[in-house]
Amino acid sequence: MARTAFVGLGVMGYPMAGHLARHGHEVKVFNRTPAKAEAWVAQYGGTLAHSPREAAREAEIVFCMVGDDPDVRAVVYGADGILAGMAPGAILVDHTTASADLARELFAACKAQGKHFIDAPVSGGQSGAVNGILTIMCGGEEEAFARAEPVMRAYGRQITLIGGPGAGQLTKMVNQICIAGLVQALAEAINFAIKAGLDTDKVLATISKGAAQSWQMENRWKTMVEGKFDFGFAVDWMRKDLRIAMEEARRNGAPLPVTALVDQFYRLVQMKGGGRWDTSSLIQNLRDG
Ligand code: NAP
Repeated sequence: MARTAFVGLGVMGYPMAGHLARHGHEVKVFNRTPAKAEAWVAQYGGTLAHSPREAAREAEIVFCMVGDDPDVRAVVYGADGILAGMAPGAILVDHTTASADLARELFAACKAQGKHFIDAPVSGGQSGAVNGILTIMCGGEEEAFARAEPVMRAYGRQITLIGGPGAGQLTKMVNQICIAGLVQALAEAINFAIKAGLDTDKVLATISKGAAQSWQMENRWKTMVEGKFDFGFAVDWMRKDLRIAMEEARRNGAPLPVTALVDQFYRLVQMKGGGRWDTSSLIQNLRDG
């Protein structure tokens, strides 16, 4: 069993840290809003830390799950940051979806102090975190990965070291590029089915067994028909992910025309007040006409 710390107990981090505790690992938690960390400790019985530094002290592995690049920097650097608390030899695993540049920067900052870093963004959504079946895409060195991987099994089903520092974040960009175009296509298809007067339950039951099948179709079709979006992966986060992917694409020269277009459709959803709606809310643009 490992001595761990978990920084960031949001939609994803809260249940992920819970799985660590359930699997018998020692867990010290920190959350910017203390009430969430207090609730977590009451539920799982770990230890409450009052700063990222305090959480990281004595931990063999420190997990981090916050929002965007500046949020990761805010909890890692500085006098009260994770790096200041980590012992030499310890591993920082960042599960946040952030830029590959940041991953490389943190890898170098850790290495300079005899510490290890793994970028490890996840896929599988809130339900994947709650059920402990996340897909985890990692970048870093093999030795640190070999130590962290058995611990991440507490909440991960598919855990892969893709390559060196930043490779996990680049893989997550590939993942989000796949999802963006797909969700817009699904929204157009469902709206078409409704306008055509079809029985949408029958349509789904049929085409989900054919070549059009996807995770988004299986998990989101029904709620998209019903116009329910108050759950899951927030549009604000998706736009952050697409921004990161498009910045990377500008550098590597990969054209992303559909991704750029869908990003604008998500912007429309934000303008309707749907920044915290699930990403399947793209259909609302079509239904509103
Ligand atoms: P969330 O519910 O908004 O939680 C964010 C967490 O980060 C909260 O604990 C928040 O603390 C903390 N945080 C944010 N900025 C901070 C800062 N500057 N300093 C300290 N703490 C800070 O987000 P989430 O849905 O768990 O997503 C977290 C990450 O996972 C994001 O990068 C997202 O893109 C990625 N992700 C999410 C999903 C999903 O389905 N939700 C799926 C895959 C990947 P407070 O409680 O104080 O606000």
